[in-house]
Amino acid sequence: MTFRVSSDFDSGNIEVVAIRDTSCDLEIRVDKDSDFYQWFYFRVDGGLGETLELRITNAGGAAYPAGWSGYRACVSTDNETWVRTDTSYDGGVLTIRHKVTTSPVWFAYFAPYSSERHHDLIARYADAPGVRHTVLGKTLDGRPLDLLTMGEGPISAWIYARQHPGETMAEWWMEGALAALTGDTAEAAALRNAATLYVVPNMNPDGSARGHLRTNAVGVNLNREWITPTLERSPEVYYVLREMEKTGVDFSLDVHGDEAIPHVFAAGFDGIPSLKPDQTAVFEAYCSALKARTPDFQTQAGYPKNPPGQANLTISTNQMVERFGGVGLTLEMPFKDHNDNPDPVHGWSPARSRALGEDCIKVLADMIDMFARA
Ligand code: ZN
Repeated sequence: MTFRVSSDFDSGNIEVVAIRDTSCDLEIRVDKDSDFYQWFYFRVDGGLGETLELRITNAGGAAYPAGWSGYRACVSTDNETWVRTDTSYDGGVLTIRHKVTTSPVWFAYFAPYSSERHHDLIARYADAPGVRHTVLGKTLDGRPLDLLTMGEGPISAWIYARQHPGETMAEWWMEGALAALTGDTAEAAALRNAATLYVVPNMNPDGSARGHLRTNAVGVNLNREWITPTLERSPEVYYVLREMEKTGVDFSLDVHGDEAIPHVFAAGFDGIPSLKPDQTAVFEAYCSALKARTPDFQTQAGYPKNPPGQANLTISTNQMVERFGGVGLTLEMPFKDHNDNPDPVHGWSPARSRALGEDCIKVLADMIDMFARA
């Protein structure tokens, strides 16, 4: 054996089936108590100077097999800076070929966002001027569900990320969003004057630590729990929704990653029973303004719209707008790249997620009056 593979660390996920010479058969572990899997994150030791062939043999059964075509795996020599490496998908097997120049070296579906980094993020902002930190409750594994609140204005804006824990770009996005929300610019001050901003940087800390793609500690997809969450199945949603009932929600932004579509895009709330044209108009105005601000957003590619009355109200954004009125959006960033503005070295990345987070908040600041309660 020239090398070893391990994933026994925060957010780690891989099982070793067989290692022979410079090739290795691997399987992604299924999210506990569910059928979902696609997130992988593991470390390789040894194999210096060799070109290793790392074969994920159960890739074809992953949650979104369309995510593998055109996908390139992330690799890091220091577990911090990530670039893309040679990856191919054929016959249900995802093969990563990488010449090893350092030992250890890490591989992941996307740049990981660790539990420790989450704690550091909370610590940085919990004590920042004008920020209030609240633990809304405990998750099933006993982790705190963190809320950061800023601003004093009458408009109630909720911004939350990582319901799907494998979508780590969503918490990288939060770093940029929080920097913009707490900034000392006149624009940021005006936003905080007009609105109160409720920020949940990680909706699913258990799934994150466990190395899940899509579910919490008991295999529940939190973004199908927004009608009647329970403490047994989905305390994360239960606690957040309970708080939302107190504050109302004029604007909601739910941040995600999409496995298959190689573009950044937003999904709205088309098809909810109570839909009014002016809500759609504000959603579209937000998207247009974001597109005008950054080449890292577009409005052509995305999900098909729901026919009238056929929105799935268990999904957060739909439930927000149906229940509270106002306007909501689901932001989707790619695991692959934003093909409208590709980066051949990094693909979509933490840096670009952060920059988009800042841009999203600046657009919100520019048009915050549109979200005022009628
Ligand atoms: Zn998602």
